[in-house]
Amino acid sequence: MAPPVTLAGLNASPKIHMSPPVPISHHFTVDVEEHFQVAAFEQHVSRSQWDDLPSRVGRGVRLLLELLAEHGSHATFFILSWVAERQPGLVREIAEAGHEIASHGTDHQRVTQLTPDAFRQSLRDSKLILEDVSGHSVIGYRAPSFSITRDVDWALDVLIEAGYRYDSSLYPVRRNGYGYLGGQRDPYVVNRAAGTLDEFPPATVQWGSAVLPAGGGAYFRHLPYTLVRSALRDAEARGVPGTFYIHPWELDPEQPRVRVPYRTHLRHYGGLTRTVPRLRKLLGTFRFQSIAQTLAAAHRRRVLGSSGESVALADER
Ligand SMILES: [Zn+2]
Repeated sequence: MAPPVTLAGLNASPKIHMSPPVPISHHFTVDVEEHFQVAAFEQHVSRSQWDDLPSRVGRGVRLLLELLAEHGSHATFFILSWVAERQPGLVREIAEAGHEIASHGTDHQRVTQLTPDAFRQSLRDSKLILEDVSGHSVIGYRAPSFSITRDVDWALDVLIEAGYRYDSSLYPVRRNGYGYLGGQRDPYVVNRAAGTLDEFPPATVQWGSAVLPAGGGAYFRHLPYTLVRSALRDAEARGVPGTFYIHPWELDPEQPRVRVPYRTHLRHYGGLTRTVPRLRKLLGTFRFQSIAQTLAAAHRRRVLGSSGESVALADER
């Protein structure tokens, strides 16, 4: 039986029990595509050849599933529906491991190459196929090669109209062929004529007045590991999650080599053996979850956002 509570007893222990601050969970994201589908190869490998080339995507995905399971982390997998149609079992393996299924479009055409109608079709088709195969609803999208630029920002309206709740394509950096210059660095709500969309930009670092890409991919393999670590640490200091990305082919040093110009070769094949050890270090250092999990947490906390606030996450829609 509990001892009776007395005023004296209460006064004697004036401790205030505060729950510790919840540590930030960052976003681990994977763009699921074959090694030959990257934009840098489009002049060298035609779409008509794709079906004749050996598939390697399953190796990288399964290795990622193992690494995530080892660290108890969850991720968002942005998947090409081209892959889902040919390997539905792989999509189900990802979903059954508790990860989020999201769209990377149909066949890796950049948004800058598409008309609004063709983009709408790609969004609808990929959503339908991925939902059909996985049995889960698809609410997130990442454009191939981060190709939603300021010139094609009509794409944000089309995304909203097609039933997507969030996007992770607006990389606020200046790069050749992609980049959403002047975009916000932290998660925010995009207000458009068609409605609102939550945006989760890939992680960046600020260097003087310049914003530099640090979210993953080639930057993760070629530049010092500390770049991505700083980007995530800085995001934590601002109280927001950072978004990291990687491709299955980046964990596959044995992939067959495609004959491409030297610079492309270096960018695509350089540092492939570094990916797995660096991922182990990253997963051992930070907490990660899927973007859908962050949205669900925001929903529970009723965090309301508005355009222009860098920490905002939308809710209640
Ligand atoms: Zn891609």
